Amino acid sequence: MYQQYFTEEHELFRQSFRAFLNKEVIPNIDQWEEDRKTPRAIWKKMGDMGFLGLSYPEAYGGMGLDFFYDVVFNEELGRTNSGGFAITQQVTQYMSCPYILKYGSERLKQKYLPGIIKGELISSIAITEPGAGSDAANIQTKAVKEGDFYIVNGSKTFITNGVYGDFLITVVKTDPTAGTSGVSLLVIDRNAEGVSANKLKKLGWHSSDTAELSFDDVKVPAENLIGQEGSGFYYLMNGLQLERLVAVPAGITACEHAIEMTLKYMSERKAFGRPINKFQVLRHRIAQLSSEIAAAKAFSYQCCKMYTDKVYDVKLCSMAKLLVTELCEKVATQCLQMYGGYGFMEDFPMARMYRDVRVGTIGGGSSEIMREIIAKMVIDEVDYQKAEPVPIGESREKSNGSADKPDLEKMLASIQGKAAKASPLGKKLKFNFGEEQLHIDGTGASNAVSMEDADADCVVQVSLSDFIELTKGKLNPMNAVMSGKIKIEGDMGVAMKLQSLFA
Ligand SMILES: Cc1cc2nc3c(=O)[nH]c(=O)nc-3n(C[C@H](O)[C@H](O)[C@H](O)COP(=O)(O)OP(=O)(O)OC[C@H]3O[C@@H](n4cnc5c(N)ncnc54)[C@H](O)[C@@H]3O)c2cc1C
Repeated sequence: MYQQYFTEEHELFRQSFRAFLNKEVIPNIDQWEEDRKTPRAIWKKMGDMGFLGLSYPEAYGGMGLDFFYDVVFNEELGRTNSGGFAITQQVTQYMSCPYILKYGSERLKQKYLPGIIKGELISSIAITEPGAGSDAANIQTKAVKEGDFYIVNGSKTFITNGVYGDFLITVVKTDPTAGTSGVSLLVIDRNAEGVSANKLKKLGWHSSDTAELSFDDVKVPAENLIGQEGSGFYYLMNGLQLERLVAVPAGITACEHAIEMTLKYMSERKAFGRPINKFQVLRHRIAQLSSEIAAAKAFSYQCCKMYTDKVYDVKLCSMAKLLVTELCEKVATQCLQMYGGYGFMEDFPMARMYRDVRVGTIGGGSSEIMREIIAKMVIDEVDYQKAEPVPIGESREKSNGSADKPDLEKMLASIQGKAAKASPLGKKLKFNFGEEQLHIDGTGASNAVSMEDADADCVVQVSLSDFIELTKGKLNPMNAVMSGKIKIEGDMGVAMKLQSLFA
C-alpha cells in the first residue's frame, strides 16, 4: 500500500521489532495463553532492546521519537495474534503512564517512568467500578485526605494488569459532592497494604491478567496525587484520545494478519475437488474485507497524523475506534467461517483472534458510547475541546480570566433572548453562581428568566465567568459538564437541554 507516513528509520525499527517478536514472543504465546500469564522477563527483554518508551522523553530513559514509532510498535503487536500479549504494554505505556508524564510531579516521573521504560514495571489504569463503567463520572471509590496521606476505600473491576502489575493510576473521588470536579488521580502501589485483587476468568486475552480490586483503608502518600486535586476528570478526558487511538493500528494489522492466514488456508484447503479460494462467494468476501481494511487503514493513519500534529479531534478519533474495533469483529467472524470446523479449533489461529477481538467494541469506550459521542458532534453540533487543567496555584475562577465581576443584568438580558428562542424546558432550572442566581421557569409556553432565588428541578452550579463563556458560545455545555466546570444537581433530563438554551 502506498504510504506517506513512515520514514526509512520507522521501517528499520519495524523490521527489528518484528524479528524480536517472531523469535521471542510468537513461539511462546500458546504457552502464555495456557498459563494465563505473560512472564515479566519478556518486558525486561523488550526494555533492554530499546523497544519501550519510544516517544517518552530521554530524561526518563525514553527515546523521544515521534508518534509514528508508536504506531509501528502497535501495528507489530497487532500482528502477534494475541490481544493478551499486546494489551499489557498498551495499558502501561499508552493508557496509564501518560497521566504521570503529562500531569505528574517530577518525583512521580522519576519514580515510575524509568522502570516502565526498562520493562521492570507494569502499570494499570483503574477507572471502571462494579457500578460505573461507561458512566465513569459515577465512580464511588473515595480518597479522604488525612495529613500527608489519602485514605482510599472502594473497589474497581476489569482492571488490566491489576493482578501482576506494580502500580495503579487510580481514579478516585476526593470530593464526592463536587461531581466531576471532585475526581482525582492517585498512584497506588499494587502491593500497598489494604489493596487486594481477584483474578477474573475471561473469554479472551488469556495471556493478560484482569483484576477485580478492593481498597480497604489504603494509606496513599499525598505526594502520589497526579497533578491537582479535582482535575482528574479533565486529565482522563484528554487521555482517552490516545487510549482510543492505540487500539486502531493494532486492530488494522490484526485484520490484515487474519486475511493473510485465511488466504494461506484457502489455498491449501480443497472442497469439491478444488481449493476453496476458487469459490466466488469466498473470493468476494475476501475482496470486501480487504477493501474495508484498506479504507480503515488510510483513515487510521490520518487520525494518527493528526495526533502527531497535536490536532485534538474527538470526532475522528472516536470514529476510528468505532470503525476499526467493529471491523476486527467482522473480519474475525468471517475469516473463521472460511476455516470451516477447523476455525473453531484451538490448534488454528482464528479461534484466538475471534475471542480476543471481542472486547475491542466494549473497552476504552464501547461502540455505543463512540456512536453517542459522534452523534452529539454530528447532529447536535457539540464541540469537544481539549480540557485545559488549571495551572497550579490558580483557582478555576481566576484561570478563566474573570477577575472583573460580570454584570448580571446584562447577562440576564442576553440569556432572556436565548431562552425565549429555545423550546420550553418543561421544568424549572436554576444557575447558581454562589451568592447570585438565574432562574428559568420552562413550565409555561416559553422559558421565563428571572434572578429570583426560587426552587428548581435542576440546579447548575457554575462560576459567573464560565456562565458568560457559555452565553457567548465560547464554552460548550457538554464540554463544561465533562470538564467539571459545571456541576449538576437534580433532574439530569433538564440539564441535557442546556445545549438548546445556549445555541
Ligand atoms: C478484558 C477487559 C479489560 C478491561 N480493562 C480495563 C482497565 O484496564 N481499566 C478500566 O478502568 N477498565 C477496564 N475495562 C472496563 C471497560 O472499560 C468497561 O467494561 C467499559 O467501559 C464498559 O463498561 P461496563 O462494562 O460497566 O458496561 P456498561 O457501562 O454497564 O454498559 C453496558 C452496555 O450498555 C451500553 N451503554 C452504556 N451507556 C450507554 C449509553 N449512554 N448509550 C447507549 N448504550 C450505552 C454499553 O455500550 C454496553 O453495551 C476492561 C474491560 C474488559 C472486558
